[in-house]
Amino acid sequence: SPGLYIVATPIGNLGDMTSRGAEILRGVAAIACEDTRVTGKLLHHLGIKARMIRYDDHASDNARDGVLALAAEQPVALVSDAGTPLISDPGFKLVRAARERGIAITSLPGASAAIVALTLSGLPSDRFLFAGFLPNKAKARRDVLTELGGVPATLVFYETAPRLADALAAIGEVLPGREVAVARELTKKFEECRSGSPDELIAHYAAHPPKGEIVLVIAPPLAQANDADPDALLRAALLTSKAS
Ligand code: SAM
Repeated sequence: SPGLYIVATPIGNLGDMTSRGAEILRGVAAIACEDTRVTGKLLHHLGIKARMIRYDDHASDNARDGVLALAAEQPVALVSDAGTPLISDPGFKLVRAARERGIAITSLPGASAAIVALTLSGLPSDRFLFAGFLPNKAKARRDVLTELGGVPATLVFYETAPRLADALAAIGEVLPGREVAVARELTKKFEECRSGSPDELIAHYAAHPPKGEIVLVIAPPLAQANDADPDALLRAALLTSKAS
């Protein structure tokens, strides 16, 4: 039936495409995507021939209207290059506009690198804050780390390999003593999740320059307390409040 279908796609391992997602992509009138070559490869792998429309949130209102006019009449899918649309990817403005117009929307879940990294990291998963990409510029990066560093939650950021060393240096400077996990190449052959102090990780990656896409997971301020043990959390909180 007509409407907008948000469809998650794999983040590296094509086996992670869900059967429900594939079925929807096979049946829609058009697929709104970031890059027709990237989505074209996925469709080819799935044996699907479909009309693709390039879409991102910087698209003109006209382009957005075009996608929505179609979705009002026929089923239209939204995908991004990898993972879950809207998660550091286009789609937010399209979904907002679709809701305003009363167009039916549903979301088909699947891979998202943030969740895969969090589950692998060994850091507390009961409370986490996903904050997208760390800024590229040094001051903005420090400001974000300062702002979020006080939040009692595990922090999750997206990064790229060329910026890893600078990001780790900034974390070491602004949030000293926090355990960090570097999750790389998730769901792929060389998947890795390495934890340590920022200094240990800086040394490791200086010797082994990283490739590929990266998620950074940073321990919360009270990571020393066992989150399965409420008494330990309480004691840690009391110690902190006495110390300050
Ligand atoms: N929407 C995607 C999702 O749900 O994961 C994220 C898109 S964002 C433009 C791309 C970033 O996601 C990369 O720079 C990296 O931080 C992270 N990422 C995507 N795939 C990854 C993978 N296989 N391993 C590690 N990080 C990945």
